[in-house]
Amino acid sequence: MIRAAELIPVAGPWVTEREVEYVTDAARNAWFNNHYEYNSRFEEAFAAYVGVKYAVSLPHCTAAIHLALAAAGVGPGDEVIVPDVTWIASVAPVVYVGATPIFADIRTDTWCIDPRSVEAAVTPRTKAIIGVDLYGSMANWSELRRIADRHNLLLIEDAAEALGSEYGGRKAGALGDTGVFSFHGSKTLTTGEGGMFVTNDDHLHERVMTLRDHGRPPGDKLFLNTEVGFKYKMSALQAAFGLAQIERVEELIARKRQIFDWYKTELKDVDGITLNAEPQGTINSYWMVTVIADPSYGMDKFALMEAFKERNIDTRPFFSPLSSLPAFTDRQESSAHMPECPVGETIAKFGINLPSGYHMTEETTGIVCCALKEILAC
Ligand SMILES: *Cc1c(COP(=O)(O)O)cnc(C)c1O
Repeated sequence: MIRAAELIPVAGPWVTEREVEYVTDAARNAWFNNHYEYNSRFEEAFAAYVGVKYAVSLPHCTAAIHLALAAAGVGPGDEVIVPDVTWIASVAPVVYVGATPIFADIRTDTWCIDPRSVEAAVTPRTKAIIGVDLYGSMANWSELRRIADRHNLLLIEDAAEALGSEYGGRKAGALGDTGVFSFHGSKTLTTGEGGMFVTNDDHLHERVMTLRDHGRPPGDKLFLNTEVGFKYKMSALQAAFGLAQIERVEELIARKRQIFDWYKTELKDVDGITLNAEPQGTINSYWMVTVIADPSYGMDKFALMEAFKERNIDTRPFFSPLSSLPAFTDRQESSAHMPECPVGETIAKFGINLPSGYHMTEETTGIVCCALKEILAC
């Protein structure tokens, strides 16, 4: 049996002297009048990269989604359409603001929310759609935009997993009314923990700036709070780290694509597996290389993970349908809103994420691929 000599982790960052240098400088100097200097530089560079007017640095992406919903006034009695298969952080903030998540199915090719399922879920109570660019794949943004415009809905793009991906020549995060990003340690660009809210909308930006600082309008020096808000700020130390990372973003994305390419080449002759898609007109930044094994192999995701674990290789399960998890099945008001999402259920059962961090080399990718072939016995 193949066994990696050292544990191959599933994710991990790429840290250079530049990050260390900027954080060291921030530790010494980002105080007093300079306390927001690194945040400003990080936000400006980030907005320029994504191609949007505003970027606001936050403690995490969950906060960005919470603020987007709160800024748009989504609240009790409202419904928000979300993909059934995504990380729970995409949906938890819907519950924070007292609204009800309505689950839509995902597509077989991109694994992202299916516009037909979204259209079918719209009711007079619908206020927003959250589309998620899953594992780097792009959702069908032109269709989602059409639906949002027809029904006057807020369109939120959860691009937490898709920094650097593109749709019709536009960068992930720039396709909704607001875009949100995560800089968790496993993500394409990291600050340890962190997030970003982006938008071109002056009003939403103004609301987010106020709500994220305990209801202080931007520039308030007198502590005269105009409403009860939240406290969602990124520290200068994290922003310094993030600035170094965004200055290296082209190199980061290129490496992610290189890792996917190693896998794709190595696995090209294996029948009955599906890897991340890159449909015409899109670019995938391949946050996590993901493989779906045909059910005929008789191994679900947990069996696959166990087999990799025996070989000293760390993997992750494809996200499970949220509508199937106790977090949502146990919520009383949601039981009336549990549609069937058959595509998501099948894909989510047989998919795993392979090691995709920046530590991966052509050699370690080769070990993971040999292990997969051995596990599937082909
Ligand atoms: C990581 C992630 C988030 C949440 O990010 P945090 O920074 O941990 O709050 C949200 N949505 C998706 C799709 C994610 O993968």
